[in-house]
Amino acid sequence: MKAVIIGPPGAGKGSVAEYFKSKYCIPHLSTGDVFRAEISRETELGRIAKTYIDRGELVPDDIVIEIVKKTLSQMDLSRGVILDGYPRTLKQAEALDSFLEIDVAIYVYIPEEVAIERLSNRYVCPICNKIYNLKFNPPKNDLTCDQDGAKLYRRSDDEPDIVRERYRVYYQQSKAVIDYYRSKRKLVEVDNSQNLEFTIGILEKILISNGILKLKPCR
Ligand code: AMP
Repeated sequence: MKAVIIGPPGAGKGSVAEYFKSKYCIPHLSTGDVFRAEISRETELGRIAKTYIDRGELVPDDIVIEIVKKTLSQMDLSRGVILDGYPRTLKQAEALDSFLEIDVAIYVYIPEEVAIERLSNRYVCPICNKIYNLKFNPPKNDLTCDQDGAKLYRRSDDEPDIVRERYRVYYQQSKAVIDYYRSKRKLVEVDNSQNLEFTIGILEKILISNGILKLKPCR
């Protein structure tokens, strides 16, 4: 299954991608994770990306498109791929069509206030990128990852003021992306304002019953 996941900050895109990765062994490419890894390795790309990310703005299209194209060319796509956080602009969506034909665009949505509440409790593992929520999905041991024991951190762009800016940017840019996939009849929409497991259960059924997800679980 070749899928893109779109939706506002805090909608649960990463958690949805994580589910399909672990159950169906579909590789996951998150552009946000790529940039955070570059920032922590202090590369030139990381330095440039940080100036945008810290302000809640989008990294310029040309940079993002190049990274996604290069990373996809190095991945094993035999079980498909889930792109998380890409495309975020119409230009990125059109560019993607020139190097990967996707089967579905999954649009996960939630109201802004729910997102702010969730993101203010979000912690992430720096090693495996697993996402925790201190209220709804806390780690078993105090602020350490259940999978590898690494100390969890809070993303600096999860501060409420930056989240609001990310929302503004999202609404400005992403409506065109949603319309683009809707017009191609590739859009599947799910509301994730209640419970993540419930949302994923519905989404999985839709994908299977429409013949989009044909893989058997890998474990
Ligand atoms: P995310 O982890 O998806 O919330 O992304 C964190 C930040 O990385 C975003 O707020 C943007 O600054 C940047 N970013 C991630 N993906 C993209 C993209 N497709 N286009 C532009 N900027 C991006």
